[in-house]
Amino acid sequence: MITASPGPRITPPASTPPADWRQLWREAVTDAGELLELVGLAHLAAGLPPADAGFALRVPRGFVARMRHGDPRDPLLLQVLPQLAELDEVPGFVADAVGDLAAREAQGVLHKYHGRALLIASGSCAVNCRYCFRRHFPYGEEMAAAGQWRQALEHLRRDPTIGELILSGGDPLALSTAKLEELARGLTGIPHVTRLRIHSRLPVVLPERIDDAFVAWLEALPLQKVVVLHANHANEFDDGVDAACARLRAAGATLLNQSVLLRGVNDDAEALAALSERMFAAGVLPYYLHQLDRVQGAAHFEVDDARALALVEALRARLPGYLVPKLVREVGGDPSKRPL
Ligand SMILES: *Cc1c(COP(=O)(O)O)cnc(C)c1O
Ligand code: SF4
Repeated sequence: MITASPGPRITPPASTPPADWRQLWREAVTDAGELLELVGLAHLAAGLPPADAGFALRVPRGFVARMRHGDPRDPLLLQVLPQLAELDEVPGFVADAVGDLAAREAQGVLHKYHGRALLIASGSCAVNCRYCFRRHFPYGEEMAAAGQWRQALEHLRRDPTIGELILSGGDPLALSTAKLEELARGLTGIPHVTRLRIHSRLPVVLPERIDDAFVAWLEALPLQKVVVLHANHANEFDDGVDAACARLRAAGATLLNQSVLLRGVNDDAEALAALSERMFAAGVLPYYLHQLDRVQGAAHFEVDDARALALVEALRARLPGYLVPKLVREVGGDPSKRPL
């Protein structure tokens, strides 16, 4: 700040310190009017749903900066901007679309599939995606990270068939690195867990999260590591995301991506092919392309199965096999994701 009176001079630091991710997290855009203004669409504010429509808007400014200015159909904007269509009641679209409440085994542990247990590590996300099942999940009581991960670790210890631990959420990288260190300490006493998989949207929406402390933690983990990014469109990648991916790979992680097929966002062969190509340029392989979970408020994003299959067929005709994601749907009670 510049003041008129003479006073002690504050010398600026010689180099700008790297942006602190927690600070960037706090500075996220949470007001739809402001978001529209930032992308040059202030005139659309009148068509927004009421601000208290159940699921708050939240989007980091770095992600907003990747949106096309003045384009109401921008694929990044559509993922985060509340729409009036969310208020429609559509038959078949319910609060707990994937049966997660039934699969709960211990605090924050979902153990639905053989050999791998999933921890709801955190209820927070840096971005609120309008199509997400999380908009209805009662995260209050379900955090695996509570009490130094005690219940979750106990569940893992008791079941020697669990070879892979999956951290999910919310976003598990919303946890502090100190909290992740606590988990790593607990895992050292459980030799049958040999793999750690992290599902996170943070390397894409807030790549500053992949900072020195986190990279050091990941590199030192005596486990095989997989990081599954969640990107839905090629435009989500930029230099910052490329750098985060490079650091994750240097720390020994295999990088995969899962996407959700979303009407108006990525439901054309061109967009899906560009996404695969762009992620591979960042060192990431496509894993799953999910059919939308049928959660209340997300019906306007749905793409029907016939069209979804045709899109993947078109991808297969133009990309190498390793760049074609597996089209799946999650069905409660199934022993795995269900291929279409
Ligand atoms: C999706 C999911 C997994 C992981 O399944 P993969 O097919 O191995 O990716 C594990 N546990 C739960 C509860 C899941 O929903
Ligand atoms: S869980 Fe994933 S998809 Fe859902 S709001 Fe968080 S970041 Fe978005």
